[in-house]
Amino acid sequence: MGSFFEFSRQVNAALMVIDEITLQGRAEFHFMVNPAATGFVLPRMKTSDILILGAGLSGLLTAHLLRQQRPDLRLRILEARPEPGGRIRTLRPEAAAPLEMGATWLSPDHRRLQKLLTRLGIETIPQRMGSEAVYEFSPAQPPQRVQLPSGEPQSFRIKGGTDRIITALISSLGEGELVCNAPPLAVRAVRDEQEGSTEAASANSGATTKMLVETPDEGYAASVIISTLPPRLLTHSIIFDPPLPGTLHRIASQTHTWMSESIKAGFSSTHPRLFRQEDGAVTTLFSNAGPFTELYDHSSERDHALIGFLHPGLSELTPEDREAAATKQLNRLLGTQAGDHGTYYECNWKQEAFTHSPHSGFIPPHQHNGHPVFRQPLLGGRLILSGTETASVHPGYMEGAVASAEHAAEAAAAWFSSHG
Ligand SMILES: Cc1cc2nc3c(=O)[nH]c(=O)nc-3n(C[C@H](O)[C@H](O)[C@H](O)COP(=O)(O)OP(=O)(O)OC[C@H]3O[C@@H](n4cnc5c(N)ncnc54)[C@H](O)[C@@H]3O)c2cc1C
Repeated sequence: MGSFFEFSRQVNAALMVIDEITLQGRAEFHFMVNPAATGFVLPRMKTSDILILGAGLSGLLTAHLLRQQRPDLRLRILEARPEPGGRIRTLRPEAAAPLEMGATWLSPDHRRLQKLLTRLGIETIPQRMGSEAVYEFSPAQPPQRVQLPSGEPQSFRIKGGTDRIITALISSLGEGELVCNAPPLAVRAVRDEQEGSTEAASANSGATTKMLVETPDEGYAASVIISTLPPRLLTHSIIFDPPLPGTLHRIASQTHTWMSESIKAGFSSTHPRLFRQEDGAVTTLFSNAGPFTELYDHSSERDHALIGFLHPGLSELTPEDREAAATKQLNRLLGTQAGDHGTYYECNWKQEAFTHSPHSGFIPPHQHNGHPVFRQPLLGGRLILSGTETASVHPGYMEGAVASAEHAAEAAAAWFSSHG
């Protein structure tokens, strides 16, 4: 078995290059071979008791819970993006309502999330639907106003923006516990952490004494690692030594990452006529013609906004072309004119390399979400797989992220209790 340094050199040949990050948070990444990296020397490792990979809702909540349960443990979170939040992304343009480009709604049966919100002092507001929606059955038929069924379970949004959860959780972290721009490239379990003589542990053995993680800039060591990456992304972006068990790898690489193919978009405006239900405007749209397939009122007390989903098949268009098509649709369906809608915003999640991992075949929505293989102990409990897609309840949703964080924090705390 080669040394960790050799292993590191090989892994570092793949350097992540960020081509472009726009203000709206779209990013394009690709890996390239960097010959200069072959001379890489591993710097001194930064150590902690627990290393959490990913600072979305699952990762940040896991840290928050562990901080409460085991304040004696040293934590560190490694996040690949420049900002935490993951699939929770609230845009806050000046003089506009907060615009949700990611997670938005919760329902009454999302009880863990509700409890968390209460604990964090965050309120919810009902999603305004109105009594009618505009429904476009097909491109060939004129849009119709349809009565929305009464008695449907009410959906709620987070008052002031979903990212308030992220902000609240970050405030409970200690200094230096969150490291951004730090995508782990490799994770290795070793039996002897002495330099040059590291030996790989076997995947299911309890013989591991340390977990080593390498990012492009630093090396990290911890007793326990909790990954909150979507399982498919995990298997496609991080090299494990020893490799993950075959069944786990196979299932994870075919696990759907919820909403990772979606395009969330909308308009923000101070134009009251378009958005105010009190004035008889309909703000809920459903369309089989597109580009918006769904559109909902996102107004705050002061500012007005409509946010929804564009047809995912439009992901290859430019943002300008999507905006033009969306504007045309609103004019057609709502009888508005160019300029009525205010500013256009969007997030094309298919282009987010730290959420979506491209695949050639079709992975059905929610495939393998919550699969029990994700909760099997790995490396004697030193590697814990978490994140919403691993949750046994409501996987894919914020509720699943909360459930997975509770499970991961409990499993990590139990590991430290039994290992002194
Ligand atoms: C458009 C959209 C709409 C949604 N709407 C809803 C909704 O209405 N209601 C609802 O309940 N849920 C919704 N969701 C789902 C919800 O956002 C997720 O369930 C939840 O945010 C997942 O949290 P997580 O921490 O498990 O995963 P993520 O948020 O995906 O967090 C994973 C973190 O890992 C980071 N990461 C990735 N690769 C690496 C790496 N190599 N190294 C280190 N870090 C890495 C990512 O940057 C990210 O921060 C929506 C999602 C999207 C995209």
